[in-house]
Parts: sequence; C-alpha cells; structure tokens
Amino acid sequence: MGLSKTIWTNPTEFLRNQQPEHPVLFFSPSALQAAARRFIDGFPGMVTYAVKSNPGEEVVENLAAAGVRGYDCASPFEIDLIRRLAPDAAIHYNNPVRSLAEIAHAVEKGVKSWSVDSRSELEKLIAHVPAADSEISVRFKLPVAGAAYNFGAKFGATAELATDLLRRVAEAGFIPSITFHPGTQCTDPAAWEAYIRTAAQIAQDAGVTIARLNVGGGFPSHRLMGVVPQLEATFDLIDRVATEAFGAARPMLICEPGRGLCGDAFTLAARVKALRDDTHVFLNDGVYGSLTELPLIGVIDRVEVLSPEGEKRMGAPLPRIVFGPTCDSVDRLPGEVPLPSDIAEGDYVIVQGMGAYSTVTNTRFNGFGELALATVLSLKV
Ligand SMILES: *Cc1c(COP(=O)(O)O)cnc(C)c1O
Repeated sequence: MGLSKTIWTNPTEFLRNQQPEHPVLFFSPSALQAAARRFIDGFPGMVTYAVKSNPGEEVVENLAAAGVRGYDCASPFEIDLIRRLAPDAAIHYNNPVRSLAEIAHAVEKGVKSWSVDSRSELEKLIAHVPAADSEISVRFKLPVAGAAYNFGAKFGATAELATDLLRRVAEAGFIPSITFHPGTQCTDPAAWEAYIRTAAQIAQDAGVTIARLNVGGGFPSHRLMGVVPQLEATFDLIDRVATEAFGAARPMLICEPGRGLCGDAFTLAARVKALRDDTHVFLNDGVYGSLTELPLIGVIDRVEVLSPEGEKRMGAPLPRIVFGPTCDSVDRLPGEVPLPSDIAEGDYVIVQGMGAYSTVTNTRFNGFGELALATVLSLKV
C-alpha cells in the first residue's frame, strides 16, 4: 500500500494503489452537487431529497451545500438524521403509514408536512397532529406504466378515495395537498402527465384548492449506456401540464427524487474472486450486498473491467453468469452480463450509477458486506 489519501483522483488510482479485497463504492461530491443543481435549476418548484435512497451523511451534507432545502423522510431515524445535518430544512414525512409513537416523534421534531392514502391513517393524523400550519398530502395511484416496477402495489389511494380524503383534510383544517409517485426509474415522462391531470381532477371533484402538488421521485438515473435520462424534457412537461391542468389554481410544485439525485454520484468496484472453470464470474459483492436492486429492476450495462494494475480489459464482450460471494443460489446477477473476454481473477468490475438503494440495502449475510467508501474527484475510470 503506497499512498494514503482522503480524496483520490478517480477509482483507477485508488484500486491500483490499495488493491482492496472488499467492494468499494466511490463517491464524487462534485457529481452529486451537479445533479442537485440540475434539479434546482430545471425543476419548476421545490426540490426535496428522498433520504431512503442513500442516507449517507456525506450525501445529505453535499445536497444541503448545493441548496437542497427539503427532505422526504420515512422514519424517526431519517427525521433525526436531517434535523442533525440540515437543521433548517423542511421535513416531509411521506411514509403514509405510521405508528402513534412515530407520529408523536415527528410532531416533537417539528414536522409540518405529511402524506396519507387511507381513511384510518388520516384519522390518526387528525387526532394527533396539530392542524395549524400543517400540510397533509393525499397520495393517489394510477395504473400507468413507465417505471421499473409497480409502485402502486403498496401505497396510493384510488382517485375516488383520494377525493374523499382531500375533502376531509380541508374540513379538518389542515393545508390540503396532493402527492403521487410514478414508480422508480421512470423513463417515460408521459407517466407524470397522466398523474398531474388526474390530480387536478381530484382537486376539482373534491371542491378543494390544493396548496402544493408533489410529483414524487421516480426520475431515472443513467443505468443503460443507450438510455440517457431526459430530465429537462420531463421538467418541461411537468411545468406545461401543471398549468394546463390546474389553470389559475396551479399549486406550488414539489419533487422528491432519490435515485435521480444520488444514483450517478457513486461507482462500485467489486473484485473478481474467481473465474470458475473459465465460465462463472464470482464477485465479492452481490445481491445481498450493494447489488440488491439488480434482480428487481434490471442490470446496469455501464460496466468496465480493470486489471489489478488499473489497465482496462479490452477483450470482446462475452456474456457470463455472474454470482455474488454468498452461498445462496439467488445471489446471482440477472441474465448474463457481457464482460471482456480477457477478464481474470483479481480484476475489478466497475459499475457506474450505483448511488441509490445500494449502501443502504447492503447486508452482512454470510459474513460478507464489508463495503468501503472512497471519495474521488472524478468517477471516470
Ligand atoms: C422511495 C420514494 C421516493 C424516491 O424514489 P426514487 O425512485 O428513488 O426517486 C420518493 N418519494 C417517496 C414517497 C418514496 O417512497
């Protein structure tokens, strides 16, 4: 081990010098801040961060430094984290199901914005949250496609129920708002259009003028080489459709991206433990580690392979079965992953776009999961 540094030029420099035996996530603060500025400059409303996608302190601190002033929290832990790291920021408690103890904790911490999707949870809020200055957003769902998987399976009222809930929110003296989430890694902007038009219809049917419309997360990160996220086109569509649908009663807009902000600010390096009989690639990271999401939402093809000396493997791509390190047979990446034909034991497989739902879902199953974090100036290998 030669150099000991706190900030490295790029992943290659770190790998060449440190030859890590455990998986490493490389973090680029400048990439994260650039993503934050892209949202703040382009989105026609307030930009908040969905903490669950990556609750790392370095993430929250850099987002706060870049100007993110609101955070979507789902638990007392996340609320306390934001109160500590960004004390003046707004907290939106947008997990629609909460225990009484969780509600009490949030009230004590000064939370003023909540979401609901059911009568029972709304009555709990009405009974236990002071109405003055408090916003309750009604979350609804639509059967629309576009995202990586169906988010409406767990949360979201039908439009009919949302109409009743919104009326009840207004009657109870809370600030009425509407929220939705089109589904994560949503590459089709048309999903937002359908949701915004339905939100306007719900408000009209309820006879309620809403203060804010939260258009969710779901903004995609760059997972496939050939599919570059068109964020600005989505922002423009949201802006245009909000005006068309609501007219003079257009509410303030909020977005709460998780992946869209943090996804492309991290790059993974996993080491090849073995190339079993020249066919199966065994990595030191897998679906119980930071690659948890891949079987759920598909592979990332922004992959390169480096030798231990930091040289790029240039062999023609050869599809391989890739396993993680645990003894569980589901610990396998989906399908076959095209990797350079000259990949060898001891190499590093570099996966871009690994910031969201990676550090936070990493487990210690089978004694693996020792995941290091290294800060770099650039994520380019
Ligand atoms: C998970 C979640 C988000 C963030 O979703 P991404 O797809 O990561 O942008 C936003 N809002 C709510 C309510 C969520 O549960």
